[in-house]
Amino acid sequence: MQDIQVKNDNSSYLITTDIGDLKSFIKTKSKILIICDSNTEYHAKYIKNSLGCDVYFEELLPGEETKSFDTIVYLLEKYSTLLNRSSGVVLIGGGMIGDLGALFSSLMFRGIDFYMVPTTLLSMVDSSIGGKTAVNLKSGKNLAGVFNNPCGVFIDFNFLRTLPWLEVISGYGELLKSALIDSKDFYQEALNFSLKKWYDSQGIDENLSKLIYKAMLLKKRVVEEDQFEGGLRKVLNLGHTMSHAIESYYKYRIPHGVCVLYGLFLEGALGYYLGYVESDFPQEILIKFKELELNEYDGKWSDLEAWLKVDKKNFDESIQFVFMREPGVLFDKKKISTSINLETIFKNEEIFS
Ligand code: NAD
Repeated sequence: MQDIQVKNDNSSYLITTDIGDLKSFIKTKSKILIICDSNTEYHAKYIKNSLGCDVYFEELLPGEETKSFDTIVYLLEKYSTLLNRSSGVVLIGGGMIGDLGALFSSLMFRGIDFYMVPTTLLSMVDSSIGGKTAVNLKSGKNLAGVFNNPCGVFIDFNFLRTLPWLEVISGYGELLKSALIDSKDFYQEALNFSLKKWYDSQGIDENLSKLIYKAMLLKKRVVEEDQFEGGLRKVLNLGHTMSHAIESYYKYRIPHGVCVLYGLFLEGALGYYLGYVESDFPQEILIKFKELELNEYDGKWSDLEAWLKVDKKNFDESIQFVFMREPGVLFDKKKISTSINLETIFKNEEIFS
């Protein structure tokens, strides 16, 4: 698989499926710190052994609670005497370790080099590309962070074999989002791919690798054009207005990308009802839920409406949505009045038939 080069104004970095390259990238570094969580420790130890040099090894607790300023302060205090400005940090994990470790690396000595080794489907197709770092605040998720790019992203598809099924679906949610934004062909390929068959076979599937690669290319294109989310990059929020409301309502007990999958359907259905979406993709996603053994969203709309109104993308008395007219064709952002009654819309027979 061909390497991808992501280019921004002041920096450029490589995404490669040759994990062996990491060794040559870090060879000039004075000290190396590996950060992982207890679910990715197995893969992190494998990489540690393959590097063949002394490293500091930090294993954190998995989960969103770890993505906090408390953890950042703990890491800064501990490593301020062990690392120096020419050290490197290798982040081995999903989006949680990536977002947190990238922010830590950006703050340590005002910035040291870091390298991403994404281990979830979601982090391969989405969070490891684009330079967004973050921690959660009590008042909300991802509310503090900076933009800072890694020095390289190193992918090993083998790491996906140990992912739990729900995390696979979560990554698929972001992958399907990218496919919908990209083109009809990519969307059809992603929709037709049998995730369950791949998961049960526990193998490496060339078709899945190709889908991941295409999603990485889409993300590269978008973040190259709009590094700091001033315009185009907002298209990546497709499905995310609803998904953030669902995530908040369920207190983050449902993985992010699973909520995105719900969001893609719900926002698609809303757009269909309003006449902005002229395609059957919302219904097709609903059918896909069955194959994924995922229940339809069965919460109350009135509960979601309250969370939709506090979304950080909303500046006035309206809720912002991104709609696709059809796969690959953007309808653009639409503001929907917060007085809209979602209950009535989603009980509409035509949408759910
Ligand atoms: P995650 O990092 O929390 O990983 C999900 C779970 O899978 C965790 O329990 C983790 O320990 C486990 N895990 C990771 N790799 C594994 C493996 N190979 N085998 C077995 N278990 C493994 O979550 P995620 O879904 O990767 O990412 C979600 C996070 O990413 C959220 O914090 C979200 O805010 C953030 N995010 C960031 C961006 C961005 O652009 N920076 C984009 C999307 C999401």
